Amino acid sequence: MSPIIEVENLFFRYAGAGKAQERLPWTLDDISLSVPAATTLGIVGESGSGKSTLIRLLCGLVPMQRGIVRSEGRALSEWLGRDAARFRRGTQIVFQNPRRSFDPRMTIGASVSQPIQALERRRPTIEELARQMEHVGLPPALLDRYPHQVSGGQLQRVAIARALTVKPKILYADEATSALDVSVQAQVLNLLMDLRDELGLTLILVT
Ligand code: ADP
Ligand code: MG
Repeated sequence: MSPIIEVENLFFRYAGAGKAQERLPWTLDDISLSVPAATTLGIVGESGSGKSTLIRLLCGLVPMQRGIVRSEGRALSEWLGRDAARFRRGTQIVFQNPRRSFDPRMTIGASVSQPIQALERRRPTIEELARQMEHVGLPPALLDRYPHQVSGGQLQRVAIARALTVKPKILYADEATSALDVSVQAQVLNLLMDLRDELGLTLILVT
């Protein structure tokens, strides 16, 4: 079976990078990797080393410059042309700061509903939303609250629930625990591992 995500000789540099910093002209320099489905890959590196850029490239959020990214054996350009919706659905990201990934004026329920509304053109039922909350260890009563009314750890669980509503194949967690208290970090990480095992997710953890 083809790897769920495969990268060959990827180079990437933001326009203008390297002029002020001649020593580090490349953001990403000759990256190759291969991730079999339902496994976990950890990407570790210092701040500014290009981890988030790599993820954006793998998700098709940044245009490629050199190299090739394949998902299930097909080049990303092919996915994003003919099967863009299927690709977007299969690829979800949880970001570092949950406070910045939610609209503070929307209830948690409205936010969790969004991916299904966008990708399936329907409103999820209250039962579906409640199930998603329970799946990440949260009481469904939180659906009526606003982001500022829950803790950072709870909100990151909500972000995971929101990403899972559309049944992705790959979940990217871009420093998804680093804004949380140390005790909560371990809980969120354990939740991600449990979900990976339960749902057969491919987990790409950036730290
Ligand atoms: P990391 O996630 O490992 O901290 P990033 O991928 O965010 O690293 O950034 C890698 C490098 O690219 C950094 O030097 C950063 O300042 C630069 N960079 C990030 N985003 C942009 C952008 N949109 N335009 C120009 N440079 C950027
Ligand atoms: Mg980053």
